[in-house]
Amino acid sequence: QRVDNPYAGAKGYVNPEWSAKAAADGGSSISHQSTAVWLDRIAAIQGVNGGMGLKAHLDAAVQQAAGQPLTVEFVIYDLPGRDCAALASNGELGPTDLGRYETEYIDPIASIMSDTKYAGLRIVNIIEPDSLPNLTTNAGGTAGSTDACTTMKANGNYEKGVGYALNKLGALPNTYNYIDAGHHAWLGWDSNFVPVAQEFLKAATTSGATVNNVQGFITNTANYSALTEPFFKVTDSVNGTTVRQSKWVDWNNYVDELSYAQALRSELVSIGFNSGIGMLIDTSRNGWGGSARPTAAGAKTDVDTYVNGGRIDRRIHAGNWCNQSGAGIGERPTAAPQPGIDAYAWIKPPGESDGSSTAIANDQGKGFDRMCDPTYTGNARNGNNPTGALANSPLAGTWFSAQFHQLIQNAYPPL
Ligand code: BGC
Repeated sequence: QRVDNPYAGAKGYVNPEWSAKAAADGGSSISHQSTAVWLDRIAAIQGVNGGMGLKAHLDAAVQQAAGQPLTVEFVIYDLPGRDCAALASNGELGPTDLGRYETEYIDPIASIMSDTKYAGLRIVNIIEPDSLPNLTTNAGGTAGSTDACTTMKANGNYEKGVGYALNKLGALPNTYNYIDAGHHAWLGWDSNFVPVAQEFLKAATTSGATVNNVQGFITNTANYSALTEPFFKVTDSVNGTTVRQSKWVDWNNYVDELSYAQALRSELVSIGFNSGIGMLIDTSRNGWGGSARPTAAGAKTDVDTYVNGGRIDRRIHAGNWCNQSGAGIGERPTAAPQPGIDAYAWIKPPGESDGSSTAIANDQGKGFDRMCDPTYTGNARNGNNPTGALANSPLAGTWFSAQFHQLIQNAYPPL
C-alpha cells in the first residue's frame, strides 16, 4: 500500500493553527502552504492549551484530502534527554525516561494513527531531529562534546527510542518514517559522514526496527543551510587553492544541502538501507534572499574573498542555528524536485522561534541556550563566533513576529 514517494501526486496538509497565525501577521502569501505539526511533548498528543491534538489534525487532514492523496507531516520529538548538545529545546523527559517515551508518547501516537479512518492519509513522521547526529559528533572526546550527549550515547536511549519509534510507527501501512540527518555543515566532513550513516543503521536495527521501517531521511530540519550555492562549487579553486580551505567551508566536502542529501542517500543505500529511500530537505527558512543576497561570484583574489563574496548563506558561521538574522523563506514545498529527493518540505514552521535570547521560565523543560543570545561569542561548535541570532526572541516554538517578517522579506525565490 505504501507508495515510493508519498509526496508525489499528493496535496500537503495545511495546519489551520499555523496558517491562521501566519495570515494574521502579514503572511497571507505563504499561509496556504503545508507545514509540519510538531508533537514536542506528551501533552501535544491531546493538544496543548485547547489547541489541536493529533486526532484533530488527522481529522482535519481527512477533510482537506477530500478523498484525494494528501501528505501530513508530524515531527516525533520527545526523546529522553532531548537536545543534548544545546539547551533551547531540552524536553520533558530525563535521560533515563525511555519507558515513558515508549508507553506515554510513541504508543499513543501509533494507536491514534492506526485508526482506520486515517488509512487513506499518507502520514510522514520526521524522526527525532538532531538526536543521532548529536551522538555522532557531540558525545565523548570531540571538541564539541557535551556531558549530556556523552550520557545519551552511553545509555543508548536515543538509539533505543528511535528504533522503538521506527518499529511502532512503521508497522502501519500508510506511514512514512524519515530519520533526521542533520545538515551539510554539521555532518559533511569525512570524519562525520560515514560514522553518522553507521549510527543511523545501528538505531534502525535496534528495539525491533529494521531498515524496512525507514522510508528516508531529512536534512536541514529547522536549520538555515542553503539548498544550493549558485556561485561556488566545492570543486572550485582560486590561484590553485581549493575552496575547501576557505574559512567558511573549512575542509567540508559539501557546500550545500542538495549535494549533501544526494550523497548521503547513496552512502546509506551502500551500507544497507533500501534503494528506494528518498530524502527530504527542510526549505522553510533557507532562502537567503533580500538585498544582502549576492548576485555574482566573489572576486578570485583568494579563497576567502571568493567564497565570502559569492555565498548566499550569509551566516557568520555555518554552525549557527538559532533565529538567524537575515534568513528568508526558501523553496516552497515541492514533490520530487531533484533525483533522490522526495520533497522540499517546510518542517520548521516559519515564525516559530528556535529558542529564547534570554532565560524564560517554562514547564516544558526548555533551557536558555546562549546560541540564541546575540551578545554571545560562541563555543567550539560554532568555531567561537558570534551567534548571529536575532534579539528579543521568545521560547522555542512560540511565535516570533519580528523573525517572521524578516523571513518573508528575505524569501528566495521571492514571494
Ligand atoms: C521547539 C518545539 C517546537 C518546534 C517547532 C522546536 O525548537 O523545541 O517546541 O514545537 O521547534 O517550532
